[in-house]
Amino acid sequence: MALSPMMQEYVKTKEEYKDCILFYRLGDFYEMFFEDATLASQELEITLTGKDCGLEERAPMCGVPYHAADTYVNKLIEKGYKVAICEQVGDPKTTKGLVKREVVRVVTPGTVLDTVSLDETKNNYIMSIVFTENHFGCAIADITTGDCFVTEIDRAQKLLDEINKFVPAEIICNDSFFVSGLDTDDLKNRMGICIHALDSWHFDQDTCERALKDHFQVGTLEGIGLKDYDSGMIASGALFLYLTETQKTAMSHMTSIRPYSADKYMLLDSSTRRNLELVETLREKKKRGSLLGVLDKTRTAMGARMLRSYVEQPLIDKEKIEERLDAIEELNQNALLREELREYLGPIYDLERLVGRISYKSANPRDLVAFRSSLKMLPYLRELLREFHSPLLMQIHERMDAMEELENLVSKAIVEEPPLAMKDGGIIKDGYNEEVDNYRRSKSEGKQWLTQLEARERERTGIRSMKIKYNRVFGYYLEVTNSFKDQVPEDYIRKQTLSNSERYVTPELKELENLILGAEDKLYALEYELFCQVRDTVGREVVRIQKTAKAVATLDVLASLALVAERNNYTRPKINTQGVIDIKNGRHPVVEQMIENDMFIANDTYLDNNKKRISVITGPNMAGKSTYMRQSALIVLMAQLGSFVPADKANIGIVDRIFTRVGASDDLASGQSTFMVEMTEVANILRNATAKSLLILDEIGRGTSTFDGLSIAWAVIEHISNPKILGAKTLFATHYHELTELEGKISGVNNYCVAVKEKGDDIVFLRKIVKGGADRSYGIQVARLAGVPESVLDRAKELVEELVDSDITATVRDLTAPKKKDSIVYDQVDMEQMSLFDTVQDDDIIQEIRELDVSNLTPMDALNFLYRMQNKI
Ligand code: ADP
Repeated sequence: MALSPMMQEYVKTKEEYKDCILFYRLGDFYEMFFEDATLASQELEITLTGKDCGLEERAPMCGVPYHAADTYVNKLIEKGYKVAICEQVGDPKTTKGLVKREVVRVVTPGTVLDTVSLDETKNNYIMSIVFTENHFGCAIADITTGDCFVTEIDRAQKLLDEINKFVPAEIICNDSFFVSGLDTDDLKNRMGICIHALDSWHFDQDTCERALKDHFQVGTLEGIGLKDYDSGMIASGALFLYLTETQKTAMSHMTSIRPYSADKYMLLDSSTRRNLELVETLREKKKRGSLLGVLDKTRTAMGARMLRSYVEQPLIDKEKIEERLDAIEELNQNALLREELREYLGPIYDLERLVGRISYKSANPRDLVAFRSSLKMLPYLRELLREFHSPLLMQIHERMDAMEELENLVSKAIVEEPPLAMKDGGIIKDGYNEEVDNYRRSKSEGKQWLTQLEARERERTGIRSMKIKYNRVFGYYLEVTNSFKDQVPEDYIRKQTLSNSERYVTPELKELENLILGAEDKLYALEYELFCQVRDTVGREVVRIQKTAKAVATLDVLASLALVAERNNYTRPKINTQGVIDIKNGRHPVVEQMIENDMFIANDTYLDNNKKRISVITGPNMAGKSTYMRQSALIVLMAQLGSFVPADKANIGIVDRIFTRVGASDDLASGQSTFMVEMTEVANILRNATAKSLLILDEIGRGTSTFDGLSIAWAVIEHISNPKILGAKTLFATHYHELTELEGKISGVNNYCVAVKEKGDDIVFLRKIVKGGADRSYGIQVARLAGVPESVLDRAKELVEELVDSDITATVRDLTAPKKKDSIVYDQVDMEQMSLFDTVQDDDIIQEIRELDVSNLTPMDALNFLYRMQNKI
């Protein structure tokens, strides 16, 4: 037995799209067969049936109605599958035998176009990565908006930062990427990114070069700014080859590739992005409660996406930051105008995604109407912008193009409220095209003739209730109720019998019908053609529309930042390049919103490159240490993204990176112990931070025993504080009060604590950061606040007293007292030396360890012993 001809065709197509689920169009359904059907029926929870396919056994089959296909496709995409859509491209009415079918598009996570399923305030990126000998070429695109970037990166860690910045839905790569040292399983499993390697020919230099030159219609790579890129060029080429394969259209809205350097922005690693809750909260992954949640008062989808990218990539260039700040300041000096601008921004449609839909020929008449009403806002915006003089606002004014001729065209051609469907007429305005008007006239005249015919037939037959009606199957017919059946004349031809009526046609009625329907068919076809012409005319202005869209988005972002600054009492930060961070009465932008009645207590932050490099912050749990440190980092970040900041005054020295190591991590699911995660992050920070970085370290060393933890925390401070090694500005919160001993001993270290007031057995949090170290941790008092039973608290108090004997503080004091000999020489560090003993043979060490009576060792003895041993090595 052999497969039926249709199934043979199916199998042939499926062969070409092995890695996709094939949606095969049969009439009003997309059907899936064989393994695809089994898989899809499970994933989509739809019924699995069978189809005769010529073989003995029926082929497993399942299907979805064509009009609901998007929803099902999206479900599969979300689960990480690719879907190939195979359509009937021939006309079944005119084709004899099998209708021709073709795959018209492959939908993948990074190439979803259905704007209903995509969050309009986020870009949907696809990233192409090639790993060559020692570095990465990387191209990123959002095909719904046409944005496209390229960069080259020298280290896996930095690439990871970029991946975390763009959060692509899909990564395409060469095979070597999987051995480049990056944890691709983590990207797949934790970040949910779909990663797959393409066949190696996609990365062939000549093929890539040709693909790019073809797409951008240029003769040299210089023309698109990729002359100095090698791996970047290949990543871009592979990306365009892949897009051509899957999209099967010209993608004329992808008009440029923008090369950028990751070093031109503040670098933020993934845990810092998460910990600072920049665009979503740590636990619930919601925008509400994040920095973006506070800052976003944008009125357009384009603005919302751009603001997100501002938050995701703060600047490090003073001039660019000041440019944004100038614009915000000016917008706030003219708050009324600013609000008027925001009013006009409101109705502006997502022009970027519209351009995408136009170039995919999927924009419908309503999209064009929305486009026109958006354009109508532009002259008002331009007029208002003339009042502003800051360079950025002037530039926006200049780039905003009202495109009057397109506005006129759409106004003249398309009716005010067109239907969604494109092929059922009702799209083109009267007076736009003579032929359309003529067809419409014949159509309405035909209708009048129908009315006349109805009147005449009633007269002739005496059937007063006779009506001319229409349906899609029979066309026009005469309906006669059963009681008048006998009066029906001979020349009526019966078409259908219903329970209480009969339906007839006459030759004259059929003739009229041909006239009317003929006019209608032609009219609808012509309307569709004219609509496509208008759409193509708009489509030819992609570059102007995109430029205007970016100008609108920038204005929206600046106006939003300005409004938020005004509402929340932010101030304009001064920006310096001397590395001084001086914040007076700073507040946490998110926490202050959540605390009622302005009860948030403001605090100062001061850090510089000299005597105030490191603040060691102590204080009981719940006192407000984390909040304080995060607020300092957020204020710096806000300033660098060009926003005003929540403080009375702020002078911000530009930092190149912010690193955070904060509390228990959410990486536990990945199977690593808390301590391992913590140390991995510390290692990353110590390796990658520079003297220009800002470090936020919260409770380092918590995940291990007290002595180990204290020693690690201590050593980390020594490392960071030494300007010869690192010398980064750091806020370091700790519950090891012993670390306050470092002030005065290591240069640059200063103690701060969060003030609390004791009230008998209780404490009151004052939330004020003051100079000096806390000498108690008030653990028992905090436990009481949390509701731990009194009996447990009493026992804990007893134990504390017993343990006082082994006070680590005293031990540490001993340790930091000046010693005899230098082992490590720190130039600017006051610590003289760490070694207590002269170098001893390893044998001695082993001997000593053997002889140690571990079971009778006090903690103090243990620490002393360890310390002695360490210095011997
Ligand atoms: P810690 O890190 O010292 O354990 P947190 O920073 O987590 O303490 O603060 C605990 C709680 O105290 C926060 O959830 C917040 O509601 C409140 N808080 C912190 N700082 C302030 C402040 N400056 N003003 C008012 N409330 C604050």
